[in-house]
Amino acid sequence: MVLLVKNARLLDPSRNWDGAASLLVADGVVAAVGEGVEKDPRAQGAEVVDAGGKLLLPGFIDLHVHFREPGQTAKETIETGSRAAVAGGFTAVCAMANTKPVNDSVAITELMLARARKAALCRYYPLGTVTKGAAGEELTDFGTLKAAGCIAFSDDGWPVMNAAIMRRALEYNGWLDMPVVAHEEDTNLGAKGYMHEGCVSAALGCLGIPAAAEEAMVARDIILAEHTGGHLHLAHLSTKGSFRMVKEAKQRGLKVTCEVTPHHFALTHKEMRRFDSDFKMNPPLRSEGDLEAILEALADGTVDAIATDHAPHTLDDKEVELSLAAFGVIGLETAFPLTLELLVNRKVITLARAVELLTSGPARTFHLDRQGLGGLAVGAQADFVLVDLEGKVTVDRAFVQSKSYNTPFKGWSLPGRILGTWVGGKRVWGE
Ligand SMILES: [Zn+2]
Repeated sequence: MVLLVKNARLLDPSRNWDGAASLLVADGVVAAVGEGVEKDPRAQGAEVVDAGGKLLLPGFIDLHVHFREPGQTAKETIETGSRAAVAGGFTAVCAMANTKPVNDSVAITELMLARARKAALCRYYPLGTVTKGAAGEELTDFGTLKAAGCIAFSDDGWPVMNAAIMRRALEYNGWLDMPVVAHEEDTNLGAKGYMHEGCVSAALGCLGIPAAAEEAMVARDIILAEHTGGHLHLAHLSTKGSFRMVKEAKQRGLKVTCEVTPHHFALTHKEMRRFDSDFKMNPPLRSEGDLEAILEALADGTVDAIATDHAPHTLDDKEVELSLAAFGVIGLETAFPLTLELLVNRKVITLARAVELLTSGPARTFHLDRQGLGGLAVGAQADFVLVDLEGKVTVDRAFVQSKSYNTPFKGWSLPGRILGTWVGGKRVWGE
């Protein structure tokens, strides 16, 4: 099958391309890209998509989603999660291992990959757990899980509290060239907290999770990354001190990467005055100073990727007392509109940097660039998205494709409509 996308503005940060272009796809990969591609003899008889001057981008890559399958399919399935992904412009997702049971075995990895193949929407890369049962005590068989298709290892949802276990995980995965993804939270400091510890939690009388709970673990794991030479990837970083340490670690050439979520660059702990569990997640919404540090880290290159931490929950999980409600919010459909409005339109970063944080940045971080993801050079996978920068979306139940609707952005009107999403040259979203 040959597909020609013509009359587009192509923005591909992996090649510093921003300008008029056409894209020719054959057998699922990019056959030609640039100006004058229409005249390529291979374009004769191709199926044609007229982009109408709209923005064509490499497909977005999310390093952090929770698709809840196996075990909690009332919240999300691999199929519904994948539909939410492609609706949001994501053509590849990396799925966390805290399913029920957790993904600490080849059997679960294979089951996940089979369900993703059946859904046939986005590319799906499972993570395995760092420890058996994610119990923090005994390492999983990294080599076997890598061979089965795991892309990285994480006990996300929980930290690895035992430093000796984390040291071995970084060491062994260093040899395997695999990232260890850390959910950084000292659970003794975090205790029973369910929002950021600060002036708002004090005023509300709510138990807080201090910034130090994250920062103490970031400090420890950067030290272990240096000691072992392993690749430490820090998930959903949220505090000023964390970014300061990552920036310093990167300057010293350590293999440390990090991601931030849209909800952490959009909102602060002030929202907790609503007592609405749609604003409860872990790490929690932080202070204004932390949010400023996130924006600075996005702009100065400290952050490698924007990741959603898409964490669907049913109404039953959320419609309870704030202290008892589940942590987490969905984010696949709102990630690009929030990035566009809050980072690009408010001039925190350029559009090219924003796209980098959603495409080539995450691809490099998990080595997906080696599989032809994250950019649209000749020979790359034909994963792309067509976007209307001016087209508005309203966050309501019909807009959200996820099985769950636990978003803090209900009712928001944002720019950045996804007109179509293609994976391997096949249209998976849009008309
Ligand atoms: Zn986490």
